[in-house]
Amino acid sequence: MQCQQRWLNCRSTNNNMPDFQAILEHIYQDAVIASDKGTVASYIPELAHIDKNNFGIHLRTSDGNDYGVGNYNKPFSIQSISKVLALSKAIALIGEGTWKRIDVEPSGHPFNQLALLEIENGIPRNPLINSGAIVIADILISNLKNPKEDFLNYVRDLTGDETINFNKDVAHSEKVTGFKNYATANLLKSFNNLNNPVEDVLDFYFHQCAIEMTCQQLTKAFFFLANKGICMLNKTRLTKSQAKRINALMLTCGFYDEAGEFAFEVGLPGKSGVGGGIVALLPDHFVITTWAPGLNKKGNSKLGMLTLEQFTSKTKLSIF
Ligand code: GLU
Repeated sequence: MQCQQRWLNCRSTNNNMPDFQAILEHIYQDAVIASDKGTVASYIPELAHIDKNNFGIHLRTSDGNDYGVGNYNKPFSIQSISKVLALSKAIALIGEGTWKRIDVEPSGHPFNQLALLEIENGIPRNPLINSGAIVIADILISNLKNPKEDFLNYVRDLTGDETINFNKDVAHSEKVTGFKNYATANLLKSFNNLNNPVEDVLDFYFHQCAIEMTCQQLTKAFFFLANKGICMLNKTRLTKSQAKRINALMLTCGFYDEAGEFAFEVGLPGKSGVGGGIVALLPDHFVITTWAPGLNKKGNSKLGMLTLEQFTSKTKLSIF
């Protein structure tokens, strides 16, 4: 009853569009008081001390309006969210060749699982789990002149923001503790699905994951995927079909072994990261980013999942 009342209050008076700012504020107020905010990822030591009371939401609609609440302008470690941007760059560079080395099926397993990779002869299930993202990193190293710098500039260009950078402490922290990623890269190498040295590929991958961005910067960076592949800020573009494919992969593979749950509860393509961020989008309508560092058991942001479920329920804006 209270929710319905609130939702009625959230209709703006002068047109039939939802009052997005009021909706975000209501969702934020409801979620921020949750007693269980999940657990901050600690397997990357540098992430362990992030305060789990951080919470931000940012929305950008396709008509270019921005709405934000909470810590939406505070940078955080984007981690696996970077895999979508890396994939988009790889597709822009080598197109269909990407799919000779990586499959497009959900894994139904945790992001860093090794067993499936061995059983399936070194072909990762999809580009959004670690093994797939490591192959994408290999593709980028082979096709970019200055891989780390060029990739960072790609993200900056998509966002129109030169201040975006790597957090070198986070990259180093993962480098000295990322034994499972080393195991994954070595397994890929043993199946001849890695062309560059393991050290070089992982150095790139750890830096890619250690990019820091705010919710607002992420909604801008992902806007081209809600806009048929076209970035409004510059000439960066994918074809409509390439954007469709990336969105399909986010829907089916973007949430580790909880992709079904996210589609079921939220109904949007999206990608989460262990830094606590989630980006989700509705093509031709909006991009929304949440950041709350406490994770659930599957490694997805607890408040982020809740927020996005509330958002699509209240606005009735989802792909279904
Ligand atoms: N850099 C992290 C790893 O490879 C990314 C994990 C994630 O965000 O899912 O473990």
